[in-house]
Amino acid sequence: MQQVTDWLESRSRLAPEKVALVEVSTGIRLTYQQFHKRVSRLAGYLQRSGLGKGDRIALLAPNSISYMDLLFAAGRIGAVFVPLNYRFAISELAYVLADCTPKVLVYNESYSRSVEELNEQAQIPLVISETAYRSAISESEELTAAAKVDLEDPWAIIYTGGTTGHPKGVVLSHRAIVWNAINTVVSWGITANDITPVYLPMFHTGGLNALATPVLYAGGTVVIGKDFEPSSIVEILQRENCTIALFVPTMYHMLIQTPEFAKTSFSAMHTFLSGGAPCPYTIYETMWAKGLNFKEGYGMTEAGPNNFYIHPQDARRKIGSVGVPMFHNTIRIVDDNGCDVKPGEVGEIWISGPHLFSEYWNKPEATAEAFEDGWLRTGDLGRRDEEGYHYIAGRKKDMIITGGENVYPLEVEHVLEAHPNITEVAVVGLPDPKWGEAVTAVVVPTADRNLTEEELKSFCSGKIAGYKIPKKFVFVEELPKTSVGKIDKKRISDNLVQIRK
Ligand code: ATP
Ligand code: MG
Repeated sequence: MQQVTDWLESRSRLAPEKVALVEVSTGIRLTYQQFHKRVSRLAGYLQRSGLGKGDRIALLAPNSISYMDLLFAAGRIGAVFVPLNYRFAISELAYVLADCTPKVLVYNESYSRSVEELNEQAQIPLVISETAYRSAISESEELTAAAKVDLEDPWAIIYTGGTTGHPKGVVLSHRAIVWNAINTVVSWGITANDITPVYLPMFHTGGLNALATPVLYAGGTVVIGKDFEPSSIVEILQRENCTIALFVPTMYHMLIQTPEFAKTSFSAMHTFLSGGAPCPYTIYETMWAKGLNFKEGYGMTEAGPNNFYIHPQDARRKIGSVGVPMFHNTIRIVDDNGCDVKPGEVGEIWISGPHLFSEYWNKPEATAEAFEDGWLRTGDLGRRDEEGYHYIAGRKKDMIITGGENVYPLEVEHVLEAHPNITEVAVVGLPDPKWGEAVTAVVVPTADRNLTEEELKSFCSGKIAGYKIPKKFVFVEELPKTSVGKIDKKRISDNLVQIRK
């Protein structure tokens, strides 16, 4: 009997000849039938290699079909897929491997040296190169007896971006991944006609689960790309007739500056999405000026990642809003006592739904802290307007308290981003004897002009309350970014505090 967890099999029965996966770097195209058979053979190989329920299978590789092979093969035998952040330093990878203790590590040859070094410390029972496992697939027998897999069984562990500290292994069950797919398909209207490019790293929830698994669930096509080169991406979006794409704001920044972007109409694309970090309004305006449907999503490894839906017309009417909760999702905005705040007031975002993670791997305390009566306390702030539309106000940890007043850096950042000579900006609170924390803006000016502190203060004046206007402006050439391209506020604050010492 087929199991509820084996939906790839259903897809391969419904539309065997439909293309499921495209690997841009090799030109490989796999139909659902080919993909399903390949997964069955890989699952057979893994099972015969001694892997079973609950065992972790790690992958260290640039974006490729291997992510999908191993995710689905792990699912068939009840094992747990752990995609590793290939941008991590050896010490960080060693931390993650020691934390999740995989039985198998599959690696791309370009990481051979790191893997040798890591394996000396981690002693992983089976270490195989990507090439070796790909040939093992073609030689292996299909899986005969699948393990009994329950919806609550873990299917993947995704380590978070580490934006706010040590990476945490987010355990995602079959239930969480499937319900994120259902929510996304139902709420965003994804169908078998959708074709999505995946250029966000697939070790991250944005690459793996924001669109890739939902589009496969719907029977569409996932085009896997390795390197984010803005000009060639424009070409691939056109060539593959992509219909929906997700990029982080930094990627949009790069994309809209290419000459190809200006020349292309993106006629097949029905939706461009930004997520993972706050999106500057200037990007919205550039995309809309071209007549493109552009909107922002709020995502989180621990919850889906997808949580909201906004209709294109509402995205324009409610600029900056991420919209209303997805179909099977409930959102609360609460104060420090866990009581719901009034519309318009900022509070912490709490989420409840079938797409939530199970636990942080090996971190019972962090898990206990994350949940309250089944609600996920996101650690992010937001507000809901009278009509039920939600706005993200930034991370709770980033909120600045200056002279007793709360300042949400995101609000100040949005004001400064609108300045024509600012490329990027991050607002942080620095310890200050008089104010407690002093609102400080770290600004990357455009190449053609010098900016002054006075000029920027008067630019802010009248747009936000006086206490929100940065007391100090620091001009830099670039802002530090995390491994998934988010502005790294922790490093910015640490650097500034260091400089002042
Ligand atoms: P870590 O949890 O290790 O510190 P991280 O929170 O960056 O890393 P992710 O799960 O990749 O790990 O990112 C989710 C976070 O990204 C959210 O909690 C939120 O702070 C931020 N985020 C996502 N979408 C948006 C958005 N549209 N606007 C503002 N912030 C966003
Ligand atoms: Mg987080």
